[in-house]
Amino acid sequence: MGDAKLRDRRYSPFMARDERGVTPQGEDFSAWYNELVAKAQLVDRGPAKGTMVIRPYGYRLWELLQGELDRRIKDTGHENAYFPLLIPESYLRREAEHVEGFSPELAVVTHAGGKELEEPLVVRPTSETIIGEMMAKWVSSHRDLPLLLNQWANVVRWELRPRMFLRTTEFLWQEGHTAHADEADAMRETMLALDLYTEVARDIAAIPVVPGEKTAGERFAGAVRTFTIEGMMRDGKALQAGTSHYMGTNFAKAFEIQYTSEAGRLELCHTTSWGMSTRMIGGVIMTHGDDKGLVLPPRLAPYQVVIVPIGRGEQGEQTLSAARDLAVRLKAVGVRAHVDDRPQLSPGFRFNDWELRGVPVRLELGPRDLESGTVVMVRRLGDEGKQTISLASAAENMPDVLEAFQAFLLKRATDFRHAHTTTVDTWDSFTDAVTSGWASALHCGNPACENDIKAKIAATPRCVPLDAAQETGSCVHCGAPSAYGKRVIFGRSY
Ligand SMILES: [Zn+2]
Repeated sequence: MGDAKLRDRRYSPFMARDERGVTPQGEDFSAWYNELVAKAQLVDRGPAKGTMVIRPYGYRLWELLQGELDRRIKDTGHENAYFPLLIPESYLRREAEHVEGFSPELAVVTHAGGKELEEPLVVRPTSETIIGEMMAKWVSSHRDLPLLLNQWANVVRWELRPRMFLRTTEFLWQEGHTAHADEADAMRETMLALDLYTEVARDIAAIPVVPGEKTAGERFAGAVRTFTIEGMMRDGKALQAGTSHYMGTNFAKAFEIQYTSEAGRLELCHTTSWGMSTRMIGGVIMTHGDDKGLVLPPRLAPYQVVIVPIGRGEQGEQTLSAARDLAVRLKAVGVRAHVDDRPQLSPGFRFNDWELRGVPVRLELGPRDLESGTVVMVRRLGDEGKQTISLASAAENMPDVLEAFQAFLLKRATDFRHAHTTTVDTWDSFTDAVTSGWASALHCGNPACENDIKAKIAATPRCVPLDAAQETGSCVHCGAPSAYGKRVIFGRSY
């Protein structure tokens, strides 16, 4: 392969203008997403089916999210630990529902060290079993409780229809696992984790999620109760962005996680588990992105501000030097700033590039701006348009500009969700509502009725919202008396 071809391949995303854009959302949302994650340099495909290479820009996004979540997990008394990737297959069999739920997705190691293993090892799909085994060893008295653990890890669930970030064979997450003396304490923990997720989604990712409980048919394999946060994507579909499970004593029975109570009796622990994963990044992309590309909330943006110096030759050197100086001042006030030092590319091309990559604020600095002591500020979205601001005060004002942009994104997403959620009482209006968004409907709670709905219109109950008003009546599909005492959100989902 000649040099020219190599260079061509390497630079093609920058050189071929027409190939830079993405398919409009309205034309094909799924194509928009698939093209964007690649062109914004978040991910690349791994060689094994369904695997994902997370590139530095995408990984930085994950690190920022992880940092926010990790701090909250620690602040609420949990400790990080690490458990093995390989789990004896027999462990999974100990909890019948758990193994049934995960079997189709398991990757199993049968050979190692050049021979067949006596007992196959499962590559962890989740760690309830191995952590349960360890908890049983570590808990003996009521004084050992609660035991509050968290693990940051990768997990493997064999994926037949992979989508980057949303469904990949291997993904990154945190999994909280806790053991408690009784149901009340374990339920407090389950709801605490759900609150952490709601807060991180809303305040950091600017995704106005709805916290609620899953119906029996949508519960985690082996859980007594499953809670979720559901976000609405810009195609109207739902994304489950984090879940928290109360396991009752199911895993405690299977793994003999027991303690001696104050009264001297041997009791089973009540356990919980909860997880949030790299799927959240898919949620950020689909909640805020538009036809120009990504739109990143400032609190998660690898670069919150990009400065584009303009000009060639000596003028170019002057604006570049002023841009670097401004970046230093921005960093000093805590802003993640980046200077686009690519004079070989046209300003217009670079503007489009940073729009595609979702940078919240772009500062354009040309020779004339430098002369007049100004800089042109462009927000990634909103009505403000281009604004000429003072170069001297650009840095000190930037944290406020970023906060306002963060708030703007949350409000925009909240308005969108409200506009695409319909309260419905008839089957016709139900089917209309789930074609473009969510339906808030009364439902009988019967799993067979849920399945009928799913078969007819591909919509599933996303959650029974925690804060919904009390209401009863008849099921929107079968007419039987409603369950739950409130409305259920239905939608198509990822
Ligand atoms: Zn029904």
